[in-house]
Amino acid sequence: MTNKNYRVLLYYQYVTIEDPEQFASNHLELCKTIGLKGRILVAQEGINGTVSGTVEQAQQYMNAMHADARFADMPFKIDESEGHAFKKMHCRPRPELVTLRLEDDINPKELTGKYLEPKQFYEKMKQENTVVIDARNDYEYDLGHFRGAIRPDIRTFRELPDWIRENKDQLEGKEILTYCTGGIRCEKFSGWLKKEGFENVGQLHGGIATYGKDPEVKGDLWDGQMYVFDERISVPINQVEHVVVGKDHFTGQPCERYVNCANPACNKQILCSEENEHKYLRGCSHECRVHERNRYVAEHELTEEQVQERLHALQEQSVMK
Ligand SMILES: [Zn+2]
Repeated sequence: MTNKNYRVLLYYQYVTIEDPEQFASNHLELCKTIGLKGRILVAQEGINGTVSGTVEQAQQYMNAMHADARFADMPFKIDESEGHAFKKMHCRPRPELVTLRLEDDINPKELTGKYLEPKQFYEKMKQENTVVIDARNDYEYDLGHFRGAIRPDIRTFRELPDWIRENKDQLEGKEILTYCTGGIRCEKFSGWLKKEGFENVGQLHGGIATYGKDPEVKGDLWDGQMYVFDERISVPINQVEHVVVGKDHFTGQPCERYVNCANPACNKQILCSEENEHKYLRGCSHECRVHERNRYVAEHELTEEQVQERLHALQEQSVMK
């Protein structure tokens, strides 16, 4: 039996915060006093955070937030955990909570897509005339996504509006469903879609995190794992079946293990097995493998000769193909 005495809380609220700087510094004090660790962003448009702590600390935090009229009805997505999901506690002011690089920003309190509860989303996903758009970054999609969801060909979420404009014909006349981790990105993105003239737009209320915990749908039709922005990196969603969709960066084999490229100047996240991590010196490309500051080489105290041996083995392998 494992002891899951910790909780990870994921939450956001679009609500006006008059002085984000002052709020952030007070809020950081509160979190530190409670003993939480995590990352919180504060903007004039609201708050977005993930924090971890013991069951008691998590409860204390939720009580403190719910006692504030601005966050009185803020939902928390709660994960059980064996320990903290962060090393430190950060709370920072930001100009905005999510960045969509819009000419006019969207206020989700005024314009947003229809909220769909997990069961409604599940039913609609199966219908003929719907398209499901993943409103996250590409590396998040690659670890797991809803079956049949579109993977916009973009690096990051903020490029999404341009992609939509270029791919309008795929979406016209369809019911558009959007989803993201906790729901915060979709609030803005679905609002923007409506502003762009798409009429039938729905968003997964509470995001994938809520969908995976829903007692009725139990995460069904989700393939792979959900990427999270803390030390856990991935969490399971589908309680019905587990289909691996992640692919090893080097071999294309099924894989759900993320590592950062060992070249500090690259640092790209790649899916890769432990075996391939050693084989490829954790470098996403040849340039990254031979980079003078390759972290893998330093961590394993490899000599120049050993590095050359591995590079040579890779060369042999590619000749064999
Ligand atoms: Zn790299």
